[in-house]
Amino acid sequence: MPDSKALSQPQKALAKLGLARDIDLALHLPLRYEDETRLVKLRDAREGDTAQIEATVTACEVVYRPRRQLVVTVDDGSDTCVLRFFSFYPSQQKALAVGARLRLRGELKGGFLGWQMVHPTFKPAGGELPGALTPVYPTVAALPQAYLRKAVLAGLARADLSDTFPPGVTQALRPAVWELREALSFLHQPPPDAPMALLEDRSHPAWQRLKAEELLAQQLSQLESKRERETLRAPSLAGRPHGLHEQLLAALPFRLTAAQRRVGEEIAHDLRREVPMHRLLQGDVGSGKTVVAALAAAIAIDAGWQCALMAPTEILAEQHFRKLIGWLEPLLAPQGLRVAWLTGSQKKKERAEMLATVAGGQAALVVGTHAVIQDQVQFKRLALAIIDEQHRFGVAQRLALRAKMDGHAEPAPSTGKAEEGDEGSPDAVRASREPHLLMMSATPIPRTLAMSYYADLDVSTIDELPPGRTPVVTKLIADSRREEVAERIRAQVNQGRQVYWVCPLIEESEALDLANATATHQALCAALPGVRVGLLHSRMPPAEKKAVMALFTAGQMGVLVSTTVIEVGVDVPNASLMVIEHAERFGLSQLHQLRGRVGRGAAASACVLLYCAGEGGRLGDTARARLKAMAETADGFEIARRDLEIRGPGEFLGARQSGAPLLRFADLAADAGLLDWARALSPLMLDRHPQLARRHVARWLGGRQDYLRA
Ligand code: ADP
Ligand code: MG
Repeated sequence: MPDSKALSQPQKALAKLGLARDIDLALHLPLRYEDETRLVKLRDAREGDTAQIEATVTACEVVYRPRRQLVVTVDDGSDTCVLRFFSFYPSQQKALAVGARLRLRGELKGGFLGWQMVHPTFKPAGGELPGALTPVYPTVAALPQAYLRKAVLAGLARADLSDTFPPGVTQALRPAVWELREALSFLHQPPPDAPMALLEDRSHPAWQRLKAEELLAQQLSQLESKRERETLRAPSLAGRPHGLHEQLLAALPFRLTAAQRRVGEEIAHDLRREVPMHRLLQGDVGSGKTVVAALAAAIAIDAGWQCALMAPTEILAEQHFRKLIGWLEPLLAPQGLRVAWLTGSQKKKERAEMLATVAGGQAALVVGTHAVIQDQVQFKRLALAIIDEQHRFGVAQRLALRAKMDGHAEPAPSTGKAEEGDEGSPDAVRASREPHLLMMSATPIPRTLAMSYYADLDVSTIDELPPGRTPVVTKLIADSRREEVAERIRAQVNQGRQVYWVCPLIEESEALDLANATATHQALCAALPGVRVGLLHSRMPPAEKKAVMALFTAGQMGVLVSTTVIEVGVDVPNASLMVIEHAERFGLSQLHQLRGRVGRGAAASACVLLYCAGEGGRLGDTARARLKAMAETADGFEIARRDLEIRGPGEFLGARQSGAPLLRFADLAADAGLLDWARALSPLMLDRHPQLARRHVARWLGGRQDYLRA
């Protein structure tokens, strides 16, 4: 084995892309193709074509205006073309000397000066033309296409591509799918006459095979983990009559909605089982998921166990903490129990205190950020883990939380023996257990899609908002009319209301984000004399963020300018206006989430989407579709449906934090038929062809299996 230091750059890059095994290489499919199989004459070419020509250099010089560049003129006998290189090596300049015969490939632009190519690729003319289209693979800078192509072809030649589908199972599929080996050879090296349109939209039978394979692997893996989970044990949790659950219900200042009651019962049912719950609670922003979580926690606590609630940001965690303390602590205190709080920014002493109450079991509920899953945190008897905004957590973090029950190497100090008086003596039976897991998400996936995709997840949906909410009016306003918005803000503040102003995240540059938000903040301060305008951005120290949030929550700050989309999961019912700057840069569900921050109280609320048209004064199609959808509907599920339409579901369910998208090839909307097929086939296959199933999953998921399941 070569040690890792001896690996070349491209080899390291291959490893980083997860292309370790021959089969991984074989399944690394092209993004698109280049046609190098043909030569064209300039005379026959069209503007914008990516063309391959052979021509002779007739002039070659370095010019300095408007900027330094190498300008080369070539003639292919039918016409001439100017090549421009803005960066070049002396060796390249030499290869492009007058008289050289070259094979050139690049995008043709026609100007009034004739054809041009900028930075075409070139090599000496002559030589054989390839017999297949040239694949272009997803890659990284350290891994050149040529190297990757070779590696892929070698992998393809060596990989075991024997069929893992049981005989006859693809017969029902329309259109028919190809054999795997055939499909892969075709996709890596399509013949010159391959139907490009079918390759591009991935409807070609070769692509169908790959998608069917991928979906089957995903369904098999999830079903397997579901069956595994069924063999695990979790404590059966039932609230006592007149216990905490009922006391909390009675103490709430509102009545649960029917939807909250229904999902609450679904969860309570799971908690009573001795099998770990694995449930996604989804509901629109403001639908009231927190109280459902609190009621679940009450059941666990009532049964003598601990519960953990993890939120992605400190502000969200703190908001939960305050709410849960308010609800639960009066009920817990008489029993000597409390709600504990864990975050990264905590002072050492406070943290040590909290850790002690968690380990000692006095902390019936532990609320916090990622700090909750750190090694030092030892629960005495964790039975329920709740994850808010689950899509913002990495898989590793979810796994870590699940492992908190008895995943820590040595048992907590005082738990060697079952304690007297503990109902059911939870500590006596700790072997091979997992806590129940409840994940919450405000990015709803259409229910049927969620149910069929997540074979290993039960889904509860809150499909109703608490009564008394006034619908939020959404207005699209061009950025050029910003001043009018300041007037609206003033009007709201004068009525004692509060306003959010969200600046866009510019992903490439946090510095730019900040500059932009700071400028907006200053402009608003100037435009609104006498109004307290606060600023919240991602790079502020947590204590400062907290201080700003506290002022806003307490109603002492009229306007809050914020860059951090993530931090605004907050609940300030007095806020009645949400302004989103550069709304065209946000995703649809992000916009919907943001809008959900207002309209939480009884006041009439509005959301202003400020947009900047691009060049030519027009918004892009996607941006326009998004903004239009926002103005037309307030229903999170309808928004999710449109999002799916606009973006395509690859992205929708895709990229989890691991960086590995769940599905590389299949598209849940376009390939719903294949998904149904895979879902129906997977239990049969696990039962009747377990060997094939194992091989199939290993082929597709290799080491990533854990990640797909968490
Ligand atoms: P989300 O589902 O977005 O997390 P929250 O749990 O933050 O929503 O609830 C939003 C607001 O609605 C909170 O102020 C919460 O106390 C309140 N709320 C929750 N359930 C009800 C209900 N049944 N009736 C009235 N208000 C409710
Ligand atoms: Mg919430």
